Amino acid sequence: TEILDIQAIRADFPILDQEVNGRKLVYFDNAATTQKPKSVIDTIAHYYNFDNANIHRGIHTLAERATRDFEASREAVREFIGASSIEEIIFTSGTTQGINLVASTFGRKFIKEGDEIIISGLEHHSNIVPWQMLCEEKGIKLKVIPVTDLGELDMEAYQNMLSEKVKLVSVNHVSNSLGTINPIKHIIELAHNFGAKVLIDGAQASSHLTIDVQALDADFYAFSAHKLYGPTGIGVLYGKKEILNAMPPYMGGGEMIKEVTFEKTTYNELPYKFEAGTPNIADVVALKTALEFIAQHGKENIAAHEDMLLQYATKQLLEIDGLKIIGQAKEKVSVISFIMDGIHPQDIGVLLDNQGIAVRTGHHCTQPLMQRFNIVGTTRASFAVYNTTEEIDRLVAGIHRVKKMLL
Ligand code: PMP
Repeated sequence: TEILDIQAIRADFPILDQEVNGRKLVYFDNAATTQKPKSVIDTIAHYYNFDNANIHRGIHTLAERATRDFEASREAVREFIGASSIEEIIFTSGTTQGINLVASTFGRKFIKEGDEIIISGLEHHSNIVPWQMLCEEKGIKLKVIPVTDLGELDMEAYQNMLSEKVKLVSVNHVSNSLGTINPIKHIIELAHNFGAKVLIDGAQASSHLTIDVQALDADFYAFSAHKLYGPTGIGVLYGKKEILNAMPPYMGGGEMIKEVTFEKTTYNELPYKFEAGTPNIADVVALKTALEFIAQHGKENIAAHEDMLLQYATKQLLEIDGLKIIGQAKEKVSVISFIMDGIHPQDIGVLLDNQGIAVRTGHHCTQPLMQRFNIVGTTRASFAVYNTTEEIDRLVAGIHRVKKMLL
């Protein structure tokens, strides 16, 4: 029993209505980036056609309009993640920048030689490398929560890693490679028992799960607009006000200052202290439209549809001889990573593309996770609100064709 009218939703996504290699496009690369509804595309065009101006210090009408819409988006984001104040909502270029911001400011100031940082074996490179860089610079130890055969975090191992030495735990809410939903509320609670702060990489969660940073008690939460039907090049870092206030600024420049003299510069209030330079105004404004798209259809309804697709696809795919799904966590979003006996993921990707089916192949920016499962990579199909069971049938038929061609 579908609540959503998927065909009507599809009509809002102009990009889906095209042929690729002579076949109707099936877009199953949503974990890499989702497509954008017409309303988001129109918001960007409208901004540049009518409202474009630099924000905050202008007194003319366009500057006021641009500022109003930019700040309205901040308020929409605050509501979307359940933050208590707009001071806690920092616009970034994406999840990657959000994590690097925390590593460069909180990390540099509050984590010292001999301290420890915990990440997990499920992390994207963007939640590994910034910590490695910091650890190398300062003599900090990086510890990694192991991953079980099902693709879940080994929570017992995590508990044993925690101590007063741990200053930060940084894990993803949802794994981009396997779709695993991590028990972050519990992870945060355990870390807080030892006084460690917790950063959640929400890049893959924000389009599927309801986020309430206060209920989670997350210290930081980072995500990217482009994974939730919004534009690329814009993201959000949430941080608790008292922590953000204690942190030094990230980049220096305009906007982030209160007063500059050659003798001494004072910094702006939150959140502007962390927003140096002219931001990506149009895309911030369009992020609000993307959040409205999600609200219009209802996150629970979207999640229910995606879960139906996940169950349907999992069942169909497991019936294919020689196909193995990597990552069978009990709690999963609509991401399926699989490998096939005797066929390289790259070949599957190319041959599916020949049939108009877009999937992602390779290590998905999680090389250590691939090493954990002793594989070079996977083929990943990830579903969004506009996908259908007919498209999954196309994928299944496509894989059978690949097998016929190669085996
Ligand atoms: N973390 C996870 C779990 C991701 O899936 C991604 C994007 N693939 C990122 C971080 C990085 O996001 P971005 O490239 O938008 O900064």
